[in-house]
Amino acid sequence: WVILAQGCILMGFILIALYMIFVSQRRLSRITKMQDTILSSVTHELKTPLASIRLYAETMLLRAVSEEEKKKFLRRTLSETERLQRLIDTVLISARLESDKSSLAHVRVNLSELFANCCNQVKDRFSESRSFDFQLNSPNDEKEFFVWGNPYHLSMLFDNLLDNAVKYTEKGGSIVAGILQKKEVVQVFIKDNGQGIEKNNLKKVFKKFYRVERNSKLKVQGSGLGLSVCHSIVKEHHGKLYAMSEGLNKGTTFYVELQRLSPNSGR
Ligand code: ADP
Repeated sequence: WVILAQGCILMGFILIALYMIFVSQRRLSRITKMQDTILSSVTHELKTPLASIRLYAETMLLRAVSEEEKKKFLRRTLSETERLQRLIDTVLISARLESDKSSLAHVRVNLSELFANCCNQVKDRFSESRSFDFQLNSPNDEKEFFVWGNPYHLSMLFDNLLDNAVKYTEKGGSIVAGILQKKEVVQVFIKDNGQGIEKNNLKKVFKKFYRVERNSKLKVQGSGLGLSVCHSIVKEHHGKLYAMSEGLNKGTTFYVELQRLSPNSGR
């Protein structure tokens, strides 16, 4: 009996060890798959602006271009460099939010001012390449809203949402953005009349690397990282982020809800 019991215990240990090896193998292959996805989608996104920058530089060097053309190429080079910078920032913030959440420095933020700046930057960024009607709605114009947060991350959040609104809306479309007060919460909304999102994808778009495949003539490039970073940033701020759409080609509205600070409170 003693030998039988010892045998059973040994068997048990072997089974547990085998199970642990199996679990870690699975985790390892999931991590490897994730790394592959990061590599392929990020490198693809890096290649496109780099190819454009190279083309503009080569054209200016090898061809006789007028002063006006030179300016045009330089402006485009600058905008491609900014695109690269934004992608690198997104990847870095995504990694940082996953690894070290304590490094976030939160301060009192004037949300109205920060959001207006983000809107103006997006308008400037697309002023040459896209024509769209942009309206910054401030029903509580005389009122400023404050929240507790990280200004750099909040800017990245709104920048990503506004950038998507432009990217996924046809030329000549319209975007309306604004801030509303809802009791103790401030709600930022960004509404476009573009491609829209089907109901079954409204939650999935916040997953890392999730992109909606479409046969639309609007061929939009992207890494599928932006909204997952937005989601992590809003989570860090104990807020809510969600999207609403009537469906394909009926436009989309993204909402961000954050806890409001009273205008006089130190925190
Ligand atoms: P990316 O734009 O790089 O693909 P995101 O994470 O920002 O990645 O967005 C994920 C997906 O959500 C996009 O591929 C797109 O299909 C969809 N999406 C995001 N914003 C909008 C929008 N305003 N209108 C329609 N679809 C959108």
